[in-house]
Amino acid sequence: MNQSPNQPPVAIIGAGIVGVSTAIWCQRAGLNTLLIDRAGPASGTSFGNAGVLASASVVPVTVPGLIAKAPRMVFDKTQPLFLNWSYLPTLMPWLTRYLSHCKPETVARIANALSPILSNSLEDHRALANGTGAEKYISPAEYVYVYNDRAHFESDRFGWQVRAQNGFTWTEYEGDAWHQQDPVFARSLNFAASVHNHGRISDPGCYVQQLARHFEDNGGKIVQATVDDLVGENGVVTGVRTTEETIPCSAAVIAAGAWSKPLLSRLGCDIPLEAERGYHIELYEPSAMPAMPSMIASGKFVMTPMDGRLRIAGMVEFGGLVAGANRAPIEFLKNYIHQVIPELKWTEMTEWLGHRPAPVDSVPVIGEAPAMKGAFMGFGHQHVGLTGGAKTGQLLAQLVSGQPVVIDMAPYSPLRFNK
Ligand SMILES: Cc1cc2nc3c(=O)[nH]c(=O)nc-3n(C[C@H](O)[C@H](O)[C@H](O)COP(=O)(O)OP(=O)(O)OC[C@H]3O[C@@H](n4cnc5c(N)ncnc54)[C@H](O)[C@@H]3O)c2cc1C
Repeated sequence: MNQSPNQPPVAIIGAGIVGVSTAIWCQRAGLNTLLIDRAGPASGTSFGNAGVLASASVVPVTVPGLIAKAPRMVFDKTQPLFLNWSYLPTLMPWLTRYLSHCKPETVARIANALSPILSNSLEDHRALANGTGAEKYISPAEYVYVYNDRAHFESDRFGWQVRAQNGFTWTEYEGDAWHQQDPVFARSLNFAASVHNHGRISDPGCYVQQLARHFEDNGGKIVQATVDDLVGENGVVTGVRTTEETIPCSAAVIAAGAWSKPLLSRLGCDIPLEAERGYHIELYEPSAMPAMPSMIASGKFVMTPMDGRLRIAGMVEFGGLVAGANRAPIEFLKNYIHQVIPELKWTEMTEWLGHRPAPVDSVPVIGEAPAMKGAFMGFGHQHVGLTGGAKTGQLLAQLVSGQPVVIDMAPYSPLRFNK
């Protein structure tokens, strides 16, 4: 896209990691760019995630065996899956399609689609943050999966095979070798697989806010407003309608995470998108922290060292976008703390609920709308949006500016659900 000086800006809706990365890459491509968020940068899910640049997380939640396990899990309060029962009728059509992906060949297809967006995440984030002041939040890391014992690890063999097929490598530690590696963990956790070449963000909210500040300092504009529709003429986008006004634009990018669906009504595609709710608790001034971001496999949550605090994040809860936080997932996390790190002490605890944007096939939607030229979509990164957000923003800026895109974009097509 060649933008003349008098042309309206590219409008990006949503200032989470995907929207902010898109804004920075559009700005670097020389485009006049406007970022719109109803509550300011990093006010959504990008604020409270576990901070892992989880390149190897190409394995979706929908693995073989889930259908047999899930009903028991939602009734068992010691399992990390929760359901707001009153939401079940609304959820059912999405859930049926979601569970249809629990087949080995479908998992392989999803992993192949996620890999180009996730696998170089440390470098992608370094490239995004370069010269922004946000570099200080990025560090190289291993991503450690902590198991009760080797048999427990072996029960996850399917996922590890998928990671290996996608080129990821890890070191296995057992017994004393593991406890010497990271002495913080309880002796009952006796096995770990440490995946190489990962990264972490020491404060995801501050990171995205610093990136947004850099965008503004370089002449980008940030507007706080709620967008409720796109406006077009003759099949081409011309504006973004907020609750207050219509803002003219030369292109628009919907990067509103789990809240993107209501903005798609004129775009010619119906994307089956749900919110996979997740939670974190943070322990300030902890007496001990794991050395690396650590996934506690039995509870399916991550413990990540952050600036001045330990963040414990995870859970999957189905309950939509409107209902407030529930106690059960928070209590689940709290009850686990001393099972994982005995004797841990802290001064203050905070709690947070977030909404992962989850398309029914666990593959993000990245591409131009079929029914409105110049309207683009970039959302649906489910559990790995921080990891893939940097790359996604770069891809979207290439699409918007008409630069060549070097990866095959077909897997992310918004049209794939129209069949
Ligand atoms: C507990 C938990 C742990 C996680 N851990 C990790 C992890 O370790 N690594 C990882 O890679 N991913 C992780 N994730 C997933 C990751 O956080 C998300 O995939 C990612 O943040 C999504 O980014 P986004 O930019 O698409 O959406 P968001 O960050 O949600 O941003 C969307 C923005 O759009 C704005 N918005 C919405 N509607 C409108 C509107 N109508 N008008 C204007 N603005 C609007 C919102 O205010 C929000 O700021 C985790 C998620 C959870 C819940």
